[in-house]
Amino acid sequence: MADSPPAAPGPPGWNPAHPAPAEDDIVKCVACGLCLPHCPTFRLTGRETAAPRGRIAAMRAVQEGRAEVDATFTVMMDECLACRACETACPSGVPFGRMIEAARAQVEPTRPIPVRGVRRLGLTWVMSRPWAMRLMGLGLGLTQAVHADRLLPARMSAGAPRVRLRDLARPVPRRLGSGPVAGVLRGCVMDVAFRPVQAATMRAVAACGHTAVMPEGGCCGALAMHYGQPEAAKRMARQRIAEFEEAGADVVVVNSAGCSGHMKTWGHLLADDPQWAERAQRIAERVRDVLELDVPATPCRGDAVAVHDACHHVNGQGIVTETRRMVAASGARPVEIPDDGRCCGAAGLYSVLQPEMSAELRLQKARAIATTGVSTVAVANPGCAAQIAAGLREIGADVTVRHPVEMLRPVVPPGP
Ligand code: SF4
Ligand code: SF4
Repeated sequence: MADSPPAAPGPPGWNPAHPAPAEDDIVKCVACGLCLPHCPTFRLTGRETAAPRGRIAAMRAVQEGRAEVDATFTVMMDECLACRACETACPSGVPFGRMIEAARAQVEPTRPIPVRGVRRLGLTWVMSRPWAMRLMGLGLGLTQAVHADRLLPARMSAGAPRVRLRDLARPVPRRLGSGPVAGVLRGCVMDVAFRPVQAATMRAVAACGHTAVMPEGGCCGALAMHYGQPEAAKRMARQRIAEFEEAGADVVVVNSAGCSGHMKTWGHLLADDPQWAERAQRIAERVRDVLELDVPATPCRGDAVAVHDACHHVNGQGIVTETRRMVAASGARPVEIPDDGRCCGAAGLYSVLQPEMSAELRLQKARAIATTGVSTVAVANPGCAAQIAAGLREIGADVTVRHPVEMLRPVVPPGP
């Protein structure tokens, strides 16, 4: 009997007004399942709908017009940490990071209007205005200072960074050192909750023989991109690119894993924009995570320090040895955390949006750190730092969280 002709594919189910996962990317997945043991949400739930293979199958179904971007699809995409561990494990080169970002851009317009409004207000309006971020930081710092944050729902307070009011009052130098200009990203959360890391980054860049210049602008747009708002992400990328160009930056240094990972993709993000594609690619090629700098430093007598690998360092940027090198340059002895580098569950706003899974991953990470017996853990991403500090507090472990660049005593060359 002759084979019956294949069924004609239905109309693609994507909303044409928004980016969608590319068909060429979707078909790369051969459903081998080799990524499954590396996926934190699959390991927690054992559900195929919470696994990369299942998520890609759902994207394929929409692509082929067999399914819609409905409530089930939304849950599958929302439960993903966007940690990209599956991308690193995949032998077929499936670029899951950009696929999940595009899938979320499809989901975003289907959310209820009030939800969309709040997300837009936070991720676009507040985050792109440094003064609004500072105001929010001040509010959070005051709330934490009087312990009123305990009155907030756990999902709001658990993963929030601790804002020290005295740090907020201390300005970060906007220009330091001499030599070719290196732009330093001011960012959003880093500039509010991690001021000492900002200052340490400026010192490290200056020690490398650069004039470290931190433009006034803020967010790079990574969170907007991860949460389905690519147009806002593009707008913020253009603003930052123009600032770094104006500063004459030969290199752009970033001290947050999520931001450096995102900024290295600016060329791809703005590839369709004839006015910006080339400029975006040029700046993206100059982006360096601060961990990638070989900072001349005076080692101090140090103890063992556990090293946490941020997903956005390991997956996508391949930054692993660099973290240990910087910790060792401080004089400390890097110690591995015995959990196969599993995600801590921070993942941007995951602790707010998926509190149960985030809490489980947070506790697993904190317990694994506690087994090493260290008194310090090195963490180079603001979300991870807040999440891990919260987990350590929850289990009563007396371990300090520090960015590796904060642990360095850089040798600053004499000025001109
Ligand atoms: S994403 Fe890669 S590793 Fe995972 S099922 Fe598809 S082809 Fe296999
Ligand atoms: S990005 Fe992370 S959570 Fe999402 S499917 Fe891949 S491994 Fe799983």
